Amino acid sequence: PEPLRVNERRVAVEARNISKVFGTGEHALRALDDVSVGIAENEFFTLLGPSGCGKTTLLRLIAGFEFPTSGAILLGGEDIATLPPYKRPVNTVFQSYALFPHLTVAQNVSFGLEMLGKPRGEIEARVAEMLKLMRMEQLANRRTDQISGGQAQRVALARALAPAPKVLLLDEPLSALDYKLRKEMQLELKRMQAETGITFIFVTHDQEEALTMSDRVAVMSAGKILQVGSPRDIYDRPAERFVADFIGETNYLAGTVQGVDGGRAEVLLKTGGRISASYSEGMTPSGEVTLVVRPEHARAVEGAADLSGAVEDIVYFGTDTHIHTRLDDGSAFTVRQQNSRNAVLPFARGDRIGIVVGDDAAQVLRD
Ligand code: ATP
Repeated sequence: PEPLRVNERRVAVEARNISKVFGTGEHALRALDDVSVGIAENEFFTLLGPSGCGKTTLLRLIAGFEFPTSGAILLGGEDIATLPPYKRPVNTVFQSYALFPHLTVAQNVSFGLEMLGKPRGEIEARVAEMLKLMRMEQLANRRTDQISGGQAQRVALARALAPAPKVLLLDEPLSALDYKLRKEMQLELKRMQAETGITFIFVTHDQEEALTMSDRVAVMSAGKILQVGSPRDIYDRPAERFVADFIGETNYLAGTVQGVDGGRAEVLLKTGGRISASYSEGMTPSGEVTLVVRPEHARAVEGAADLSGAVEDIVYFGTDTHIHTRLDDGSAFTVRQQNSRNAVLPFARGDRIGIVVGDDAAQVLRD
């Protein structure tokens, strides 16, 4: 059969109907519940979700540190259930880099290659190549207990990439770094993925990190994958309330579907007014629905508009201003507007204003 593809790319890793139960009887815990996902070659793929949702468990199944209760893990189309971790073309970078402190940077990077019994010359060439990729040539002979946190993270990465795995698993590798270094390393990681062409499967609970780094993101909750898509898809077109809530800030509007046409639903809002909303593939919106509108996809105006409400609070943030309003049906709605120099908002707390929802800004949630 033809290998599975994602967006025209061959699939590197596939989880097929994976469930993982820890413990038995009344202590049984279903960490993964019928999870299926395909991750493409050369993809930066992120598993995003709150603590305990099953991200690490999925990584450990791919690495071979755990075995599924049911379902299969395929690598390059082959079931690898019986392959021990060290025989899988997969490597892992953990949150605690687990470097050997008494060894130098270069010795740490060569470690995996030595375990594989590679010839000396090949090891030296590969280590030099890795240190260059990490921009760490200067530090080759420094002991790893004498380098900074960011440098240690780079060494851990170089060590994991050195044996040229097909897939690199990264379990919250940046969470020990301070904010600024973390931002730097995010860009570095993205660059390394692009330069090596290795499939990265990255685990984080940080939504901003997931959006800025990934080709695609899988949002997980309670052992399930709720939505997979590009960062833009996940942010602009969340399919479920959990996804909308977990990523960014969100307004909800209640309404009733009046008709569906060409992938868009005409919705009569509970507050009055009509709005056209998009919806995810496979859905047929009808009856009462909830719409999602991101705060920056709406605009506050004087006079009447799609929505109207009373201003409850105006909060200035430098780059933008958040205008918190109460709509006529009692629900809250926040508008986020970019600031420009000398532009003063023509309204204040207590005023009634109109809210214009941008074209294609509303998305219908699945029930
Ligand atoms: P975190 O971000 O906190 O690491 P996570 O999303 O990676 O969370 P997992 O570590 O995959 O979540 O855990 C999923 C669930 O499975 C949790 O409820 C966890 O307590 C449970 N679990 C994980 N490993 C084991 C184990 N070896 N034995 C029993 N329960 C486990």
